[in-house]
Amino acid sequence: MTRTRTAIVVGGGIAGPVAALALRRAGIEATVHESHSTTADGIGGALSVAPNGRAALGLVGLDRVGVPMNAIVLQNHKGRAITELRQPMQFTWRADLHRRLYDLALHQGVPVHHGHELVDVRDSGTGIRAVFADGTTSEEADVLIGADGLRSTVRRLIDPRAPQPRYSGLLGFGARVDGAGPPPTGDRMYMAFGRCAFFGYQTFDDGTGVWFANLPHPYATWQQVRQTPNEEWLRRLGEAFAGDTVPALDLLRRTPPEALVTAGPMEDLPHVPHWHRGRMVLVGDSAHATSPSSGQGASLAAESAVELARALRDLPHSQAFAAYERARRARVERVIAQAARTNSGKAAGAVGRVFRDALLSLFARLATPEKMAWQYDHRIHWDTAVAT
Ligand SMILES: Cc1cc2nc3c(=O)[nH]c(=O)nc-3n(C[C@H](O)[C@H](O)[C@H](O)COP(=O)(O)OP(=O)(O)OC[C@H]3O[C@@H](n4cnc5c(N)ncnc54)[C@H](O)[C@@H]3O)c2cc1C
Repeated sequence: MTRTRTAIVVGGGIAGPVAALALRRAGIEATVHESHSTTADGIGGALSVAPNGRAALGLVGLDRVGVPMNAIVLQNHKGRAITELRQPMQFTWRADLHRRLYDLALHQGVPVHHGHELVDVRDSGTGIRAVFADGTTSEEADVLIGADGLRSTVRRLIDPRAPQPRYSGLLGFGARVDGAGPPPTGDRMYMAFGRCAFFGYQTFDDGTGVWFANLPHPYATWQQVRQTPNEEWLRRLGEAFAGDTVPALDLLRRTPPEALVTAGPMEDLPHVPHWHRGRMVLVGDSAHATSPSSGQGASLAAESAVELARALRDLPHSQAFAAYERARRARVERVIAQAARTNSGKAAGAVGRVFRDALLSLFARLATPEKMAWQYDHRIHWDTAVAT
């Protein structure tokens, strides 16, 4: 068997460092190449890590992540609880998760190069190199892993006809606030289907809090969203929640414009036909981006990164890529489809709201921990050999 000894990991977000750490555990040397010139400290909003994601992160040495979020209370626009979903989730900031993984990678001796934007690859037949925007190239490696996110360049190099991200019709916003106002919600996150937009918040004993909002809006890129001043977005969000009986207005008022995080358009990739070609393979959002409504983006990225490393440990790269895809595709596409259905409920009109509330009550009765076990109880058996 031709063993994989070296890997180029393109992208130093979430999936990239996890892949590099897992490869290292599998005895494969990995080097991370990230296009940004610095780490993403302070950039991005909140995200949740599900028990399945936590278990995957644990396999690469990251034990504690964020703060507990053990229940999600779903409300209608009048603040009436429609249902409560209990799962031991963790709430964290994307920047914090990224920084912890980055530090762990450096600590374990993974080389991370910044300012390396991959634009092309060179395959010599016996190995592959990354070509960067400044004309330089990486050292040759056995495989190249595209952990380069939703707008992946590696995905396009694998398949020039690969699909583009699909817009959900919602823009994402959020903020961390001090002196949060509403009483502490403890380990509960409240989420409200407002008349015009969707709102979620959690407040803590120390007086801090966090909120996020999904606002129906025609498509706009992140850069276009940023061209509108934060004061104006806060005003529009205030308008959207004006008729609702949820603490959105209170939390918006307590948000200084500079604290507003604009996450941009909420997008997904329901089906990427080709995850690998030759020595290249995709992992994380580049292969299976789910909209943030799933609460599973970072968790699935971590799972896939670990599964890929496990397959490369046990099989030659072409068989490993196929085994990895077989292990992952159905699961990730199921989560993505479920999140897309949630998005349509967030932008429901007056009639749609009645159906949605009824459906949510029904969903809550069906979404018992046993029924949701396929999603949250998934565990990777690292020590079990991967078969062809
Ligand atoms: C700055 C940022 C903020 C985010 N904020 C949130 C958030 O608030 N809430 C949420 O749910 N999700 C957020 N996400 C997405 C979330 O991190 C992912 O959905 C999930 O964690 C999967 O991670 P990933 O590593 O596959 O992709 P990403 O986290 O998107 O990481 C991809 C990385 O690849 C790099 N990259 C892209 N193209 C190239 C290239 N050609 N060459 C080299 N490097 C490249 C990017 O700079 C990035 O660091 C954010 C992503 C980014 C990049």
